[in-house]
Amino acid sequence: MLEIKNLHAGIDGKEILKGLDLTIKAGELHAIMGRNGSGKSTLANIITGRENYEVTSGTVKFNGNNILDMSPENRALEGIFMSFQYPVVIPGVNNTYFLRAALNSKLKHNELKEVNAADFMRLIREKLKLVEMDEKYLSRAVNDGFSGGEKKKNEILQMLTLEPQLSILDETDSGLDIDALRIIAQGVNNFRNSERSFLAITHYQRLLDHMKPDFIHVLIDGKIVKSGGMSLAQELEEKGYSWLEA
Ligand code: ADP
Ligand code: MG
Repeated sequence: MLEIKNLHAGIDGKEILKGLDLTIKAGELHAIMGRNGSGKSTLANIITGRENYEVTSGTVKFNGNNILDMSPENRALEGIFMSFQYPVVIPGVNNTYFLRAALNSKLKHNELKEVNAADFMRLIREKLKLVEMDEKYLSRAVNDGFSGGEKKKNEILQMLTLEPQLSILDETDSGLDIDALRIIAQGVNNFRNSERSFLAITHYQRLLDHMKPDFIHVLIDGKIVKSGGMSLAQELEEKGYSWLEA
């Protein structure tokens, strides 16, 4: 589903990703770990098409198509979703309208019938239960005054509503209390199926214990230096990253 080859990319003339290869097949959950500043968020931003990032060489293909020339909007419409490390607040934009507009854009793009307000309320109430969020969050502005944990749950609510094929979760677990972590991990786990893929960026073994990734990759200085299964996470927990550094 996602195929990244020899990706070199950066920002402001600074190279951050230095020859990164990663292949994610349908149904797989991959975790990326690595020190702060190793390029994890940069990778997520390049896949989703955030402005100002420059790709100097390499390819990123999604379902066989090169996406590097596509706008972020079109990548999203094609099924790529990102939960931000630092979710943005959108004052004045109602959370329900925002979610329905996003879903309807996607339905329209896929030549499907858009949902009306009443049907959307039924749908969103079901999704809210999955992340144990109160209905009062629907009438508030997007992330406005939300606590850190509420913002992260709201990101997962977006994912559950939009049903992306590829979900990139950038430190969705950071700063969460144990209950919120469990809810988010459960939300993702229940959403997993043989068609959907995930790239989860995390620092914590705890999230991986809940999510049981198929592969774990260690990113150091813009390159994946080691890949493995759950045992790699345990090894990192014990030994840190220094044994992997050149
Ligand atoms: P991670 O998510 O792994 O902590 P990032 O991808 O956010 O790392 O950042 C990788 C490196 O790129 C860091 O050294 C960071 O300071 C640098 N970086 C990120 N954004 C910019 C920017 N706009 N200008 C210059 N350097 C940046
Ligand atoms: Mg980051």
